[in-house]
Amino acid sequence: MLIPKTHPRAASLYIREKLVHGFRDGLAVEEGLLAHGRGEMFDYLIGEKTTKTARKAIKAAARTLLTAKSPVISVNGNVASLCPKEIVELSKITGAKIEVNLFYASEKRKKTIAQTLKKNGAKEILGIDSRFSKRITKLDSARRIVDKRGIFSADVVLVPLEDGDRTIALKKFGKNVITFDLNPMSRTAQTADITIVDNITRGIHLLIDTCKKLSKEELEEKPKFDNKKNLKKSILIIRKNLRRMANA
Ligand code: ATP
Ligand code: MG
Repeated sequence: MLIPKTHPRAASLYIREKLVHGFRDGLAVEEGLLAHGRGEMFDYLIGEKTTKTARKAIKAAARTLLTAKSPVISVNGNVASLCPKEIVELSKITGAKIEVNLFYASEKRKKTIAQTLKKNGAKEILGIDSRFSKRITKLDSARRIVDKRGIFSADVVLVPLEDGDRTIALKKFGKNVITFDLNPMSRTAQTADITIVDNITRGIHLLIDTCKKLSKEELEEKPKFDNKKNLKKSILIIRKNLRRMANA
């Protein structure tokens, strides 16, 4: 589809097309398209831009990833469709491993996602070889499988666009959880330690830049980030936008 750059919603339509391509290429599933639609709705409500609140979370996320001992980036079909190149770049800058972890698991889809990430420069992809599978508790069978070299032994896990049950399980398993989630009210947003309420396709660029720019002093600073407070600010932005529209 050709989207004219002058179209008022060009950026959002372009992102949607990326996901549709990801679906056709076997990276994403139907349920992923629906989850994307929910994300689009919340993106509309926050004004389709990276807010000051999201920037604050991005800075906290950059610091946490750079100071982690064994950080891991969890990749699902939507993430692989929307920003594979950026995921690889972020993993290189932070030293984080990449693990494919799917809500609707399928060996074929896992391999397609791994190939896409490798095409974008990734060296090693975890979560593919069942010899390294381990179980985390509190989740039903297929969804609790993780890689023992990856999420299982990680201290910090970035799980973008993740389901609430999984995020809650990762927290119970003692992980420091960072997420991208456009819905500040979702269970994932509310459970994570750091929630970046932004479209991953925008926010990941800023996360990469922030990782590149953080000074030694900033890395040593004691983190002052309060996720609950930050989430409330995102909810207030939505309320303000709705009120403005209702009064227009
Ligand atoms: P939860 O399970 O956490 O309560 P949910 O069931 O409403 O949330 P899921 O489909 O489990 O939603 O998780 C996907 C989440 O990812 C949603 O909250 C959705 O708003 C968000 N999302 C979708 N697309 C994007 C995107 N491009 N960038 C950031 N977040 C997104
Ligand atoms: Mg869910």
